[in-house]
Amino acid sequence: MLELNNFAIKTDDLIRKDGLNFSFNPAACESCGSKCCVGDQGDVWVSDDEVRAISNFFNMEYFTAKSIYFIREREGLRVKEIESDRGYECIFLSETGCEIYEVRPKQCKDFPFWENMNENLDSLLKECAGVVK
Ligand code: SF4
Ligand code: SF4
Repeated sequence: MLELNNFAIKTDDLIRKDGLNFSFNPAACESCGSKCCVGDQGDVWVSDDEVRAISNFFNMEYFTAKSIYFIREREGLRVKEIESDRGYECIFLSETGCEIYEVRPKQCKDFPFWENMNENLDSLLKECAGVVK
């Protein structure tokens, strides 16, 4: 067993990715309160296919879903956030977690294994209970 950010985990649960200097235990997500989906403002970028998958998931017209859940920026489309007493929450975050978990954007699926995370490891360790050096 290993102690990490207040979680006791089995070491064989850890995932690593080539080129990144940390490991991740996905079991930590069960009790962390979706910290990566709330807090400081952050951009979750989506492709057209991802918007289509999310609109299908809600049984909604593509353009209706696009106007309700996403904002057009110069760089592309991003998921809307809502201000709350916890900071900025992703519009898809509910009390029980991500409402669109099965079709969540690739950016969310890849977290915390983003390319620039070696340079941001200290803040990642504070944010994500599943990350260990
Ligand atoms: S912050 Fe880390 S542990 Fe928590 S839900 Fe996100 S990925 Fe999982
Ligand atoms: S889409 Fe889901 S996983 Fe991604 S930030 Fe929003 S609530 Fe979190």
